[in-house]
Amino acid sequence: MNRQQLLEHIQLTPVWDIVVIGGGATGLGIAVDAASRGYKTLLVEAHDFAKGTSSRATKLVHGGVRYLAQGNISLVYEALHERGRLRRNAPHLVRVMPHVVPAYRWFDLPFYGSGLLLYSLLAGRLGIGFSRIISRSEALKLAPTLQPKALKGGVVYYDGQFDDARLAITLMRTAMAHGATLVNHMPVVGLLHDQSRIAGVTVADSETQQRYDIRAKSVINATGVFVDAIRQLDNPQSKPLLAPSQGIHIVVDRSFLPGDHAVMIPKTADGRVLFALPWHDCVVIGTTDTPMPHADIEPRALDSEIEFVLSHTEKYLTRRPQPHEILSVFAGQRPLVKAGGDAGNTKALSRDHTIVFADSGLMTITGGKWTTYRHMAEDAVNQISKHSQLPVRPCVTTELRLHGWSTQPDVDHLQMYGSDAAAIRTIAASHDAWAAPIHPDLPYIGAEVIWAVRHELARTVEDVLARRTRALLINAPASIEAAATVAQLMASELGYDAAWEAAQVAAYTQIATGYIVPASA
Ligand SMILES: Cc1cc2nc3c(=O)[nH]c(=O)nc-3n(C[C@H](O)[C@H](O)[C@H](O)COP(=O)(O)OP(=O)(O)OC[C@H]3O[C@@H](n4cnc5c(N)ncnc54)[C@H](O)[C@@H]3O)c2cc1C
Repeated sequence: MNRQQLLEHIQLTPVWDIVVIGGGATGLGIAVDAASRGYKTLLVEAHDFAKGTSSRATKLVHGGVRYLAQGNISLVYEALHERGRLRRNAPHLVRVMPHVVPAYRWFDLPFYGSGLLLYSLLAGRLGIGFSRIISRSEALKLAPTLQPKALKGGVVYYDGQFDDARLAITLMRTAMAHGATLVNHMPVVGLLHDQSRIAGVTVADSETQQRYDIRAKSVINATGVFVDAIRQLDNPQSKPLLAPSQGIHIVVDRSFLPGDHAVMIPKTADGRVLFALPWHDCVVIGTTDTPMPHADIEPRALDSEIEFVLSHTEKYLTRRPQPHEILSVFAGQRPLVKAGGDAGNTKALSRDHTIVFADSGLMTITGGKWTTYRHMAEDAVNQISKHSQLPVRPCVTTELRLHGWSTQPDVDHLQMYGSDAAAIRTIAASHDAWAAPIHPDLPYIGAEVIWAVRHELARTVEDVLARRTRALLINAPASIEAAATVAQLMASELGYDAAWEAAQVAAYTQIATGYIVPASA
């Protein structure tokens, strides 16, 4: 369905079983779960699918080595099993990524070695490889740019890696295939109540400013770091649940980490883990943990955070990236649940995600991680169906193949579209301009823009360059240069004029400039 058809469908549906607010990992996972159980499901997203934290992750499908160090075995166990399920259900989007953990003190070798062996074992039958202790020379062979000074050896272990925004788009397509309706650029601006019970939402179409009242038997607030704003709409007296914390990554070229192994630094100056990972022929390095005063949909990396990542890169890899070598810097915000807020009334505090029911019946779900989105969704739909007296239906997502499921090996970057890659190649073959790259320094071709508009609800140049393709993250300056070409391709598909193209290029340039590190940094 295109946007017009979706809007008509919304107006023709008198009442939904479940309305989900927010199209990140959490909301999209819930839409897949609810629709595949047969509930009449609508998801509305204020900006674009995965515009928030869900396109700004480290790109790991992981159990969380950090949680293991904290002794949170049950959380790691659950996440490792979800890692295995996701790999099975979306093999075109998740791949096995070997990691090298360097040891600069002799006693670190048995310490990391035994911890990571436990990590491998906890995955059980869904495991993806056993960890092993390696010599100094093997560590340098697998990760040639590791800092060699005082290096004693290392440990190799395995985790999954994925493309976060592509998984989000895949979940959107999967939910639609199971009968859900999903619309982006459609913020919730009000909530409907019947005698103080939640009864639906009011949304405003960002393209036309048209408002719609949508009635629902249940409403789920899955707006990530923005859950408190929705809770306020429900009850202005509600206490804030969250304190956002920011994490940033820099992206540099592969010469900083050649080979196919990631590097994991188990303990930075502030006691966190730091990753350097090959991703889409670049290297992603991060992250940080900076408390922020408020939630931001387009957060910016602080100078101090960039310096933190650069100084650790210099310490553990052989070279410090210069500002002009940073292809992109991106920031994302974690929803951390505050002690003493309304989480005290939490109905279910399941491992690391939080579910709270307001007196009106509004469900809020937040926390967790990308890796555990499926489990969170199962928990959320189990609880909302009970709470809203929907007919009980079992969850079917543990083995549900996601849209595009394919085990075809990598030929090129179109692999991330899975079984859709063939259709994109057909589009490319039908028109010279669609077969051409959108920029000489980017792998993407015009056919992907056409595909994104026709089949993935892309509405803006940013939707295409930031989340249907990953141009913004792999090379922000090149993505700005590609914006005019993308705008032209989109305008011809959507029937827009030159003024629309110019406005799109200006808006995109303004956003993408924030991903470029100034030469003076
Ligand atoms: C720096 C960092 C690195 C991470 N790395 C990893 C990793 O490697 N692996 C992993 O498993 N997890 C990782 N995570 C965690 C993971 O990214 C998050 O748990 C997940 O993305 C949260 O998804 P969400 O849907 O809850 O929130 P979001 O993705 O923020 O989605 C919320 C959505 O709600 C929308 N919204 C807000 N207000 C409204 C409204 N009024 N109406 C409609 N929609 C609205 C927003 O636009 C947004 O799209 C990382 C997190 C951070 C911060």
